[in-house]
Amino acid sequence: MIRGYHFLIMEEYEKIRQEESNALLERKRWAEQNMPRVVDIEKKIARLSLELAMLNFKQKDNREETFERLKSEIIELRGEKMEALVERGLSPDYLSIQHRCSKCLDTGYVGASKCNCYKQKLVNLYYKNSDFNDMIKKYSFKDFRLDLYSNSSSEDPSPRKNIESILESVYNYIQNFEKTEENLLFYGNPGVGKTFLSTCMAGELLNKGWFVVYRTSDSLIQNLKDIKFNDNDELMDVLMNCDLLIIDDLGTELTTEFAKVELFNFINTKLLRKKKMLISTNLTIDNLKSKYQERIFSRLMGDFTLYKFSGDDLRIKINAEKRRALG
Ligand SMILES: [Zn+2]
Repeated sequence: MIRGYHFLIMEEYEKIRQEESNALLERKRWAEQNMPRVVDIEKKIARLSLELAMLNFKQKDNREETFERLKSEIIELRGEKMEALVERGLSPDYLSIQHRCSKCLDTGYVGASKCNCYKQKLVNLYYKNSDFNDMIKKYSFKDFRLDLYSNSSSEDPSPRKNIESILESVYNYIQNFEKTEENLLFYGNPGVGKTFLSTCMAGELLNKGWFVVYRTSDSLIQNLKDIKFNDNDELMDVLMNCDLLIIDDLGTELTTEFAKVELFNFINTKLLRKKKMLISTNLTIDNLKSKYQERIFSRLMGDFTLYKFSGDDLRIKINAEKRRALG
């Protein structure tokens, strides 16, 4: 996947521009039938504007004067045109080309950089038909169930207190997402809500217009292979430059020599470029230490804020609830 997305997005812009130019033609045709006076004014404005432009190439004694005269005539005609349109209940720019994005004028670029609307198109294209799209719909903050976390004082803090404090940090993270350079590491037993919470965050950030990419660590390794052996630059661009990369289930990937080296290089480059990551893992800190080389481990400990999830397996609790409801 994700090959040729740039081409597809550029095609979409081309289509938008074509649609808008057709719509303008339609409006002009209508105006010719129904507002001939305005069409006359437009023609006059066009003629005067051309004259004005040609002034630069002509040697004339009274150039300044002619320039001023033409300019004020054009301004007056424009005013007259707008008045006529507004009188008819139309927008003053009814007979001008419309842009759906006023920043990039539907080109996708502002200068040499990609416009925000390009990113939005990329997100839509990227998440079209993806499983993650279904996950985001299913897992949202409003469905987050604090009651599944025990209040028992046998642990300090209790799983409930613990998750409440994690939720608060996560809210703040989302609120300050633009400014923060923080990376997050969620760890804890399976089934304590790490993936659920990462997905809630992804949904929230995507809604705010950020480009979040979700990968299991295994699919990330597959992607890194694809990049290395097939020169898939577009894929690298997505993984490297997205606003947040979620790496789920770190530790479940096959730890080949390739995986270890590439994973380290990748994470390291992202850290150097200050590209945010959220990693979740079922491994304990000790497991992480023994599974990964010192250099990966020390990046994870030094450059990520650690959140330890606690509690019983929520999936078991939910299933038990379902059984009770059925029984
Ligand atoms: Zn734009």
